[in-house]
Amino acid sequence: MDCPECGAPETLCQTRFDEFLALEFTNAGYGPVHHLTVTAYMLQHSSKLTREGWLYERGVLREFLVENKPPAFIRKQNRDLVDSGKRTFKIKSRNGLPVIYNSTWTKTILDVRTESAEVYCANVSAWARAVLEDAEKIKI
Ligand SMILES: [Zn+2]
Repeated sequence: MDCPECGAPETLCQTRFDEFLALEFTNAGYGPVHHLTVTAYMLQHSSKLTREGWLYERGVLREFLVENKPPAFIRKQNRDLVDSGKRTFKIKSRNGLPVIYNSTWTKTILDVRTESAEVYCANVSAWARAVLEDAEKIKI
């Protein structure tokens, strides 16, 4: 069965995501795009997020890709929001219900190739850009 959320065949997306995280943590060349892998994957699997969380992650992906803010800066910004009580919503959801219904994504995690760190980083960036473009067309 294809993934009901991102549309990946045989629901291979979850397996691939776990493999990629392992690769990013054990191989310095693959690590620099970790923030993109996680954000793009979460946006395509909205059942893991609350509605506010999905909108927040979409904004974060835009900050990474369009405004070129470094991951450490965004993490700090987020921590400050939580600490100051300005962010009161939860990002993650455990109810298993998708926030959005869209399985017509331009790219999925299965489009990312891993044969070298260079190819991997370029492919993750391209996938994340496609996710942002698709996500920005979704009204929720
Ligand atoms: Zn999926």
